[in-house]
Amino acid sequence: MNDILLELSKSAQARNVWRTLGLPIALPAVLRRDGEAMRERALEDKKLLFVAVGDGSLARVSAHALARAGADVYLDEFERLRGHFRDACEAYGRGPHAIALLNESTRLDGVVLDLSDARTVSELRTLFTALRPVLGRLRASGRVVVLARREDEVSDDAQAAAVQAALDGFVRSLSKEIGRNGSTANLLRVAADAHSRAGAALVWLLSERSAFVTGQCVRVGAEARSLGERESLRERALEGRVALVTGAARGIGAATARALAREGAFVWCVDLADDGSLSALAREIHGAALTVNITDADAAEALREKLGDGGIDVLVHNAGITRDKTLAKMSDAQWDDVLAVNLGAILSLTSALEGSLRDGGRVIALSSVAGIAGNTGQTAYAASKAGVLGWVRASAVRLAARGITVNAIAPGLIETKMTEAMPVTIREAARRLSALAQGGKPEDVAEAIAWLASPGAQGITGATLRVCGGALVGA
Ligand code: NAD
Repeated sequence: MNDILLELSKSAQARNVWRTLGLPIALPAVLRRDGEAMRERALEDKKLLFVAVGDGSLARVSAHALARAGADVYLDEFERLRGHFRDACEAYGRGPHAIALLNESTRLDGVVLDLSDARTVSELRTLFTALRPVLGRLRASGRVVVLARREDEVSDDAQAAAVQAALDGFVRSLSKEIGRNGSTANLLRVAADAHSRAGAALVWLLSERSAFVTGQCVRVGAEARSLGERESLRERALEGRVALVTGAARGIGAATARALAREGAFVWCVDLADDGSLSALAREIHGAALTVNITDADAAEALREKLGDGGIDVLVHNAGITRDKTLAKMSDAQWDDVLAVNLGAILSLTSALEGSLRDGGRVIALSSVAGIAGNTGQTAYAASKAGVLGWVRASAVRLAARGITVNAIAPGLIETKMTEAMPVTIREAARRLSALAQGGKPEDVAEAIAWLASPGAQGITGATLRVCGGALVGA
């Protein structure tokens, strides 16, 4: 479905005319996206500025992750921070540089601010003093990532708790200011016992795979047991793994099946019926197509039978429907169908397939920003999607001992058949009332799912990741 403003934005001439006319709506930026297979050197030659308050508790782990990913790191306080970076960067053939060496005209691809040691209001000022001078040099589709502590680790010190909480408001606001340029700002909270797990999340947030994730807080912890696997971003990380994606015939599900297959997984593509597109997709990605209505009483049994003795590593509950009506006008069937597909089937399929889910596995369920914010005409839909969030939190605790992570993705407006059915004015408002001023692509959600499915995301469980372009809804 065409976004006229985004199309216009692709022409330099149109952008100039738009600017000259001083129109009240800015043209959205064309986002830079990485659709290639994941690779270790995900930040090859990206110029990143690293800033830290105090000791920079996360400086060492950041140094290793950024160097391994191929980034060119600049330090604002070279002498103080170089110790953390020297060994890490030189092991990969390039040392860190002082920010003073950065040519005036050179653009930065991103800025990382480690505020995990910030405990006082004056230390908070670093956000302002370090970032303001370089914001103008952040290139389009740039990245800002603030590193912080987990909230529960500072609750004994009221000032530190205030300072760490302040980072949320800062990042959310910044995401709105830099979003017009296609740039994103996110917060990464890392538990003290999970520093070694932070690197992959940092690299993913800095990469072009997180193009539609902004204004979010990602929490890394040690809840899900480690299986001794290398928890970093790497090539073909899902080689030999088996994934099952529901609602795979089109939209987000089809993009997810492709992304998981690209990373090496064998993918079972499940959907209601096959008009040819499901089997074509399965052939394209060397997976298998299964036509099953996931709300049927024997759906789980049918899936188990097809899967045979083989286990599953990645279970993606993507199938979902809308039957938008105000509560007063909603029929019994509309309520029942939405709750059955969007929530009931997730619960029943997971319990039936839990025995087949291998240790270290991944369960990812599609929620929605509507489940966080609520929406007129979506009482049933929002109830089902909010239910997913509660289910994810509880299931994550239960499966952590087996190293299985359970997470939700809450998309904002994604341009698919589902959103094509929305009234034009509501769709247009949903596009523009977001930091990035546009809808996302199914691939944006698929990238987030593929990342959560990867070994690098072992530290993330029980979480909801919004892939919403910084939508105001439920923000
Ligand atoms: P879509 O309508 O394009 O595709 C959904 C797929 O699910 C279809 O192929 C459909 O046949 C399948 N499906 C529906 N009921 C099924 C059943 N009973 N058994 C098996 N398959 C069934 O939807 P989409 O936009 O790709 O959305 C995918 C998921 O993301 C949904 O859960 C949706 O609620 C969620 N989501 C989407 C958006 C968005 O903007 N597109 C926003 C928030 C959340």
